[in-house]
Amino acid sequence: MNQQLTIALSKGRIFEQSLPLLAAAGVEPRDDPERSRKLILDTNSPEVKLVIIRASDVPTYVQYGAADVGIAGKDVLLEHGGDGLYEPLDLRIARCRMMVAGKPEAVRQRPGRLRIATKYVRCAERHFATQGKQVEIIKLYGSMELAPLVGLSDLIVDLVESGNTLKANGLVPLEHICDISSRLIVNKASWKMKHERVMQLITDIRAAVDSGA
Ligand code: ATP
Ligand code: MG
Repeated sequence: MNQQLTIALSKGRIFEQSLPLLAAAGVEPRDDPERSRKLILDTNSPEVKLVIIRASDVPTYVQYGAADVGIAGKDVLLEHGGDGLYEPLDLRIARCRMMVAGKPEAVRQRPGRLRIATKYVRCAERHFATQGKQVEIIKLYGSMELAPLVGLSDLIVDLVESGNTLKANGLVPLEHICDISSRLIVNKASWKMKHERVMQLITDIRAAVDSGA
């Protein structure tokens, strides 16, 4: 069986934490994306290539079949919506929590529509809709913690790991929205057309995840 397989992932924490899982499936990149400028990395296997892209672009590459498989955070998948993808495996890496945060005094909510600054527009909308709260969402692309400090928003929706970034900016976690970890995703056509190869990869990675590697 000689089937090409392209795997999409982002550099940084996802790449680093995926390395042992990919190694368990016999996939070892030939380059380090932190040092190389290459966007397509060869691996020890001539049939497997890695494409290194922005974390939030991973579902898009997999959805359109530019990559057969990808590794993406649940936050990114919730925002993307999951069209054209299967999500067969929780890799239990890059774990954190999506939370509502704000200044301590934001607990006493002032009347009127709250302003929420976030990169996670869909998740934030859904969260406040479930609570029956009318909010105004302000889309940001980074440094959400700044927004309440300069009066751009009342609250933020962001990912929290240790809480140190919030604390350093005088913010507190207020509500837990959901737990986040990275998932293996598979293009729906690849799932059918490259079933054996994809299943092999999933089986090997699942074993590594279950053994806590
Ligand atoms: P970029 O930095 O290119 O804007 P990004 O912030 O989405 O993109 P990363 O910081 O590498 O890229 O985050 C990738 C994924 O790791 C996120 O989608 C999320 O699932 C997870 N993640 C983000 N922040 C944390 C954190 N503090 N602790 C653990 N996991 C995190
Ligand atoms: Mg980041």
